[in-house]
Amino acid sequence: MRNVLIKMKPKKRIALVAHDNKKEELLQWAKYNAGTLGNHQLFATGTTGKLLSEALGVKIKRMMSGPVGGDQQLGAKIAEAKIDILIFFWDPLEPQPHDPDVKALLRIAVVWNIPVASNRASADFLISSPLFHSEYERNVIFNMRR
Ligand code: PGA
Repeated sequence: MRNVLIKMKPKKRIALVAHDNKKEELLQWAKYNAGTLGNHQLFATGTTGKLLSEALGVKIKRMMSGPVGGDQQLGAKIAEAKIDILIFFWDPLEPQPHDPDVKALLRIAVVWNIPVASNRASADFLISSPLFHSEYERNVIFNMRR
């Protein structure tokens, strides 16, 4: 077993992703929370990031579009401890061509013990937590046989 403590600063690095049927919902949520999100550093997959930066007028570090590698780019950043929080409104009602990438992103977020919100209610709970604005020590435990 290996243990890593990762310090999350008050200013969080937040990844935002929404599948096509969920983009409007994420935009509404982000607009409602624009004041809070503006205090943090934002990352997103290509199309989600474009829509968010237009709607919020803030700088967002954009990856490739999800289906051509954006999910994997975000996953790599999580594994490098460069992303603290994942807000991922994925679509449970429509098959996605990049389903393996979606699964990999959700998986790596769990491996690295980062907070994940998959829908608006969980995103509301996350963003209203006092920990959203404070320092937090994240304990990553690798329970591996080898
Ligand atoms: P998009 O990617 O923001 O480029 O649409 C999201 C996804 O489908 O994973």
